[in-house]
Amino acid sequence: MNKKHIAVIGGGAAGLAAAVSAAENAQVTVFEKNERVGKKLLQTGNGRCNLANTNTAAGAYHSDMAAAKRVIDAFPASRIMDFFEELGLLMRVETEGRVYPNCNQAAAVLDILRYSAAERGVAFRCGFDCSGIRKRADGFELDFSNGACAHADAVIIACGGKAAPKTGSDGSGYALTRKLGHSVTPLYPALVPIRTKGAFARALKGIRCKAGITLIKNGATVAHESGEIQFTDYGVSGIAVMQLSGFMRGGSGFELKIDFSEQYSFEHIVYLLERARSRPREVQDIALGIVPKRVAQQLIKAASEVNLTSPASGLSYRDIKKIASAVKGMRLGAESTLSWDNAQVTAGGVPLSEIYTDTFQSKICAGAYLAGEILDCDGACGGYNLGWAWSSGITAGLAAAGLIQEEIC
Ligand SMILES: Cc1cc2nc3c(=O)[nH]c(=O)nc-3n(C[C@H](O)[C@H](O)[C@H](O)COP(=O)(O)OP(=O)(O)OC[C@H]3O[C@@H](n4cnc5c(N)ncnc54)[C@H](O)[C@@H]3O)c2cc1C
Repeated sequence: MNKKHIAVIGGGAAGLAAAVSAAENAQVTVFEKNERVGKKLLQTGNGRCNLANTNTAAGAYHSDMAAAKRVIDAFPASRIMDFFEELGLLMRVETEGRVYPNCNQAAAVLDILRYSAAERGVAFRCGFDCSGIRKRADGFELDFSNGACAHADAVIIACGGKAAPKTGSDGSGYALTRKLGHSVTPLYPALVPIRTKGAFARALKGIRCKAGITLIKNGATVAHESGEIQFTDYGVSGIAVMQLSGFMRGGSGFELKIDFSEQYSFEHIVYLLERARSRPREVQDIALGIVPKRVAQQLIKAASEVNLTSPASGLSYRDIKKIASAVKGMRLGAESTLSWDNAQVTAGGVPLSEIYTDTFQSKICAGAYLAGEILDCDGACGGYNLGWAWSSGITAGLAAAGLIQEEIC
């Protein structure tokens, strides 16, 4: 009997995991618009590929939380690690549960997937940009912008989102899913640096330090992160900042509050500054040892009008308190996030309510499966997004090939 033919559209993380899984029981073709599969995968984790996180829980994602929880509970990181170990990839777990390939090379993850797929008979069609999908009584007809057409019994749409479009994920997958009747929630760049107002960040360009950062909207706290912040000529970056970016979602009126000495109270900073005031120092050196020197100078400038080179003894108690307030809570207007080019992931996408979460089959178009970032589920930094791509890809692949069935909605 002829095997079912499954077309996987998109040879990224989710598409490759789907292809390897489906090929156990089906004839699979991966259609990829780029000249090679896995372009984005090679860039992940700064070339090291942080491929999963052992602390994975639904709370690490922005999504329809009940639906995301069903997926995460059914697919813990251990299952992802089993999948890769079965393919021959050794991994190690680093701080905060981050899983990396033992050889530290994203290229090894891609090669393992490519070779495993090829060994199972998966055909790769690179340079095939899918421009249309039509449902027919006997399956699906696919059109490609190079003029080619193809037929498949089932399709797995794994075109990614809009983040880092130079890697191929330019959002064209949403047009394909819309043609099948799906909706798409508003899309925003996430895990992306933030552009700030004023000159404070630019003056500190190149500085990296640990801080507590709070995202505030109209005076109310939206989210808080502790970790590294990097100052740049446009604003701020670093993991803590990127984590907060997902909460901005195109909105305005945001502010960042930066606490440069999170483990010390305001009163303690006042005490330290007062002690420093009694020493023969210039104003600009009063926060020496509390924050990096350039940061101190900018904080003092922002907090008071005092001449930086005047004697510290001339500072009033009011000045000291203002400087301590800046150390503990420097406010920067958050203008916007940077663009899709700088984003690691897409917030928004096809709602999880439109798929069966135990198979990733569309509830709207039987025989079509959706996997990866194209769905409305984005995770924190730390391996959560690739974790989502693998778990949805593997599940969609197994289901499309008839190796698992739907049980719940
Ligand atoms: C710089 C960077 C670093 C990252 N690092 C990490 C990390 O360390 N850990 C982590 O968990 N996450 C990381 N991410 C996020 C992670 O890479 C993505 O969430 C994940 O790759 C999404 O997988 P996907 O298969 O859904 O989409 P993608 O990997 O984007 O793959 C989609 C594929 O579909 C192809 N395609 C698109 N449209 C079409 C079409 N119409 N026809 C044919 N092909 C099409 C694209 O060319 C692409 O190859 C990083 C992202 C970036 C940009």
